[in-house]
Amino acid sequence: MDISNHVVQPEGVGSPDGQIDVSSSIQRSGIAVKYGQQLKIGGIICDSMGSSVFPWTRGQLTAGEVVYAIDYESGTPGTSCLAGQGVDLFDLCVATSVKIKVWLTLDGQLVAVTGIISPGTPYYQNWVKSFATLDVDPSASSPHSIECAIKNVDISNGDVSLRGTFAITSLHTPPFPVSKVIRCHWCGYKWEVPREVTVLTCPSCKKEIWVFDFSHRRGVM
Ligand SMILES: [Zn+2]
Repeated sequence: MDISNHVVQPEGVGSPDGQIDVSSSIQRSGIAVKYGQQLKIGGIICDSMGSSVFPWTRGQLTAGEVVYAIDYESGTPGTSCLAGQGVDLFDLCVATSVKIKVWLTLDGQLVAVTGIISPGTPYYQNWVKSFATLDVDPSASSPHSIECAIKNVDISNGDVSLRGTFAITSLHTPPFPVSKVIRCHWCGYKWEVPREVTVLTCPSCKKEIWVFDFSHRRGVM
């Protein structure tokens, strides 16, 4: 048998075989945002480190206190969609140092509860079927809001982190808004900015806040 060695010359993007994906080790179920959809992420971090420039950060969750998840792009509590759109919740992850309870409301109505989540073990749900407003309003005839609340049901204060991934789906193909209303993390002032803006100084209290921009995200991230 004639055995010979030869060197493969790199071609195209990446190396040595021209592939775009140089490394890939996807373990989780991915989220693919399609045409007519936009990614949304919301959550809250309650930690002894206290608030940072990100509006979803704050101090520890005190015993008996209730707090709401914050939209990562606008700093406002909850997630909402306009008439003609739907919201899909894909996953939810929680880590906590105290016993907590998490519940979801759709248009103010209780729709899902996690039960008691105990400290020490991260909680993660990635549903086979997303939680979707289009399941209750298939024609998207009305605007909807989803809120995610967390209550500290323990006897002491604690560190709590929660994050959920959504998509907004447009049924009737109006363009997505090119602006967003920011809620100041520090003083509550609200003002409108282009959706791509991520680093802001509040016109009212002059403090800086940082938010995210997912308006151009596609595929698995
Ligand atoms: Zn402010």
